[in-house]
Amino acid sequence: MQTPKKLVIGSLEEIENRIDQHCSDKYRVENSSHYECKNCGRRIEYVLAIISLHGPSLEICIGRGKVIQKTIPFCPNCEVRPESQGCVHVTMERLLDN
Ligand SMILES: [Zn+2]
Repeated sequence: MQTPKKLVIGSLEEIENRIDQHCSDKYRVENSSHYECKNCGRRIEYVLAIISLHGPSLEICIGRGKVIQKTIPFCPNCEVRPESQGCVHVTMERLLDN
């Protein structure tokens, strides 16, 4: 999957839910140990991405410096390697506070 960029979310769990959803849509568990691609069978790889938390306006990518790290899965054969940086725009300003 691609690292979220300018994705509007109401809670941080939404990022996790999107990753989980992508995994169950596109990958299958092999030997109960790792994911592989449903399409080509390749073993899934991961990028550790830094995701900045920004305010609700998509016009400006600005926040209070808070970042989270997420492990973004991808098939090296079928998907473009996820970017190492992204951002989400939170609708609840308190999520921007540490
Ligand atoms: Zn694949």
